Amino acid sequence: MKKTKILITGGAGFIGSNLIKKLIETNYIVCLDNFSTGQRKNIYNFKKHKNFEIINQSVLKKISGKYDFIYNLACPASPYHYQKDPINTFKTSIIGSCNVLENAYKNNSIIFHASTSEIYGDPLKHPQDENYFGNVSTIGPRACYDEGKRAAETLFFDYKRMHSLNIKLVRIFNTYGPNMSPNDGRVISNFIVQSLKNKPITIYGSGRQTRSFCYIDDLINGIITYAKLKKNIGGPINLGNDKEYSIKEIAIIIKNLTGSKSKIVHKEKQVDDPYKRRPNLKLSKSILKWSPKIDLNQGLMNTIKYFKTIV
Ligand code: UDP
Repeated sequence: MKKTKILITGGAGFIGSNLIKKLIETNYIVCLDNFSTGQRKNIYNFKKHKNFEIINQSVLKKISGKYDFIYNLACPASPYHYQKDPINTFKTSIIGSCNVLENAYKNNSIIFHASTSEIYGDPLKHPQDENYFGNVSTIGPRACYDEGKRAAETLFFDYKRMHSLNIKLVRIFNTYGPNMSPNDGRVISNFIVQSLKNKPITIYGSGRQTRSFCYIDDLINGIITYAKLKKNIGGPINLGNDKEYSIKEIAIIIKNLTGSKSKIVHKEKQVDDPYKRRPNLKLSKSILKWSPKIDLNQGLMNTIKYFKTIV
């Protein structure tokens, strides 16, 4: 039987590489990445696999080839990385989406798009459901990512309305696990690396701000469940974990799990840092029959084990 040919843009990134791991045995995978934030080591083990091919290219360039299914994951995604070159981040979201959408439209491919909880900004509604329009600064340092991702959602829905393209759009909340980059500045990777090195654990601001953390295996299962859904519903659907923690709690949990001697220190609050974030998962539960299964302690233990091998 002919294998399904899948394009994964941003395939060398944290989510992309975990998705390839899950799909590679039963599909043919084309990984498109320019390695601006994706890591070569994440896809090293796939390189010799008969079902795998790499295209070293940015999504800012026209995308050739014909695919049955496209996962559009290409974009710097951690606040540190996406703010480093904000113009490139903004262009990657918008021009990158135009390029993958044109390819999907030409070949009548199904196309999945990774949007983000950042489109809710610093939310005035809590928890955030898919009908909430968000509270986003158009001019702040996070806007390159937030507004880029919002505009990308618009493009996806216009292709659906104008061309009946089969799109699958999810909003991904904070996710963690193996293959995260140790230097992308995210809270879980920072706190684990700092703890393992017995260096100060850096809380930005009071630490009372909250997030809800989803383990990567749960997220990948949610993504694949949606990819397999026959009904053409478009989305958006929130994917994440709805257990909420303050950043201070996360610091203490990670310090204890690593048995670290690190001190917990406070640094300046980040500009426009959302004060609260937790997904409303009603839609993922009813449409996909999916909800996260792995609790924070288990997920963190797996992640700490991974970081011990690389730092
Ligand atoms: N954060 C922190 N210390 C760090 C890194 C992040 O206190 O070393 C905070 C950050 O200010 C935010 C939360 O942790 O309130 C989550 O940050 P992250 O960069 O992981 O992702 P975000 O959810 O903001 O996109």
